[in-house]
Amino acid sequence: MSPATRRAPEAAPPRRRADTAPAPRQVLPTCADGAGRHNGGVNTPLHDLQASRVVIVGGGPGGYEAALVARRLGAQVTVVERTGLGGAAVLTDAVPSKTLIATAEWMTIADRAPDLGIRLDVPGAAGVAADGPTESERHRVDLDEVNARVLALAAAQSQDIRARLDREGVRVVIGSARLDGPQRVLAQEAGGGEHVFEADVVLIATGATPRVLPDAQPDGERILTWTQLYDLKSLPERLVVIGSGVTGAEFAGAYVSLGSDVVLVSSRDRVLPGEDADAAALIEEVFRSRGMTVMSRSRAQSVRRTADGVLVTLADGRTVEGSHALMAVGSTPSTAGLGLEGAGVRLTESGHIEVDKVSRTTARGVYAAGDVTGVLPLASVAAMQGRIAMSHALGDAVVPLALPAVAANIFTAPEIATVGASEAGLQRDGTPYVTSMLPLTRNPRAKMLGLKDGFVKLFAHPAGQVLGGVVVAPRASELIFPITLAVAHRLTVDDVASAFTVYPSITGSIAEVARMLHHVQEG
Ligand SMILES: Cc1cc2nc3c(=O)[nH]c(=O)nc-3n(C[C@H](O)[C@H](O)[C@H](O)COP(=O)(O)OP(=O)(O)OC[C@H]3O[C@@H](n4cnc5c(N)ncnc54)[C@H](O)[C@@H]3O)c2cc1C
Repeated sequence: MSPATRRAPEAAPPRRRADTAPAPRQVLPTCADGAGRHNGGVNTPLHDLQASRVVIVGGGPGGYEAALVARRLGAQVTVVERTGLGGAAVLTDAVPSKTLIATAEWMTIADRAPDLGIRLDVPGAAGVAADGPTESERHRVDLDEVNARVLALAAAQSQDIRARLDREGVRVVIGSARLDGPQRVLAQEAGGGEHVFEADVVLIATGATPRVLPDAQPDGERILTWTQLYDLKSLPERLVVIGSGVTGAEFAGAYVSLGSDVVLVSSRDRVLPGEDADAAALIEEVFRSRGMTVMSRSRAQSVRRTADGVLVTLADGRTVEGSHALMAVGSTPSTAGLGLEGAGVRLTESGHIEVDKVSRTTARGVYAAGDVTGVLPLASVAAMQGRIAMSHALGDAVVPLALPAVAANIFTAPEIATVGASEAGLQRDGTPYVTSMLPLTRNPRAKMLGLKDGFVKLFAHPAGQVLGGVVVAPRASELIFPITLAVAHRLTVDDVASAFTVYPSITGSIAEVARMLHHVQEG
């Protein structure tokens, strides 16, 4: 799997439940405030001592969401986390990138303002140029301040998660853990302390780290992974982004909006390979129109430091100079040194932990969730896998993971949100389908907002059932929800078309596209 695309094949089919899950010893109510007498200096209430012992390795969304469910089901829960609660999702990946992109989004809106009759008064500037804002007339980003806000927000969110786990009575150990067989976890605290935890249930949720190419070693100053971007004090003059999957495209788009000169180096024919082809083509056009240089079919071979920047050498010998390089070439699952083999946990060919749709690994009582499984690298999926794992392990009702209903979003400007079947997938599987697409330029609300780039597209079975959809628009992440409901609840295009939408609204286009498909059926 290329994690940069954040799409992956279906998880392995569910094995028969076959009662491999250990029966919960005793189901007790959640200790809501963590109060109670303590056991050995940790906040485990004494009345929990007969409960199932759950040990979770990794405190990202896969781990901490599982911990909350396990507590609710009455288990005695320990989370061992190496860095900070919230994991990479909160500290280096999803939360920081989306906070940075929130600032970039304001810059994009500000750039559109002249079209709506808004002028920016800059002392000393002589009016506004006829063909849009010039350098001096543009808002300016103070990246040091932006990054300080990003990091503070991420740290606060991590602390909130820690506080929540403490309140719920989850024992948290800050340190590194590894398995010693399937039912014992050894934890080495950052301060040197060691713990041995016997467990009825173990959940591995150790995530992934940025993939590093041998000839492009990040130095944290000029050659950067996405986790190192927030140490920058000022905007890169010329940022070379290597990799045009979701992560590369999001950062390339953000830095162009923030004011950097950006070169996007893509080894593929187009940006966002694997995503909806119309959406990818639109974003590439928008990128170019915003001044980004997009280099297609250009594989980066090495990145070296120069006296005052970086030199990227492509496989065909061409070179690209920049002030900084961002490596966005995928992720590597964090499985090293975890003792997985000894515990009987099998890895896939790509090095991820093999799981089924209820998050079981090949070792009895050992579950895995999140990016380490390679199922679908999204925080929402990690959290769902973790919750499912605990429900299954502790004997609660379980709904196996259903990937078709997963909604995903690419936070470019405009955003690209998708749910359900993709057009490429339908064609590959030979599934009969009808499709319809409406550009945003036909939507009255979009016209009022001055939006030009975007569309709404639906795929449906010829009999009417909605199979999937794509929304390309500002805040597509919010707009996709009606289509998600339609896919999740197997609604027909007529169900969608017959529901009221607000006039004027972008969601009006969703109902309109559904109406167009009714017409296709009749035809
Ligand atoms: C730039 C970027 C932006 C993203 N944006 C989004 C987004 O907008 N929306 C979205 O849904 N997803 C997004 N993702 C994906 C999302 O971040 C991941 O899917 C999510 O972090 C996976 O959660 P996890 O719990 O599996 O792992 P992580 O969040 O990686 O957490 C794993 C934790 O395990 C800890 N750990 C590892 N080994 C050990 C050990 N031996 N002992 C103890 N602890 C250990 C690590 O320190 C880490 O904190 C983004 C990813 C990237 C790279």
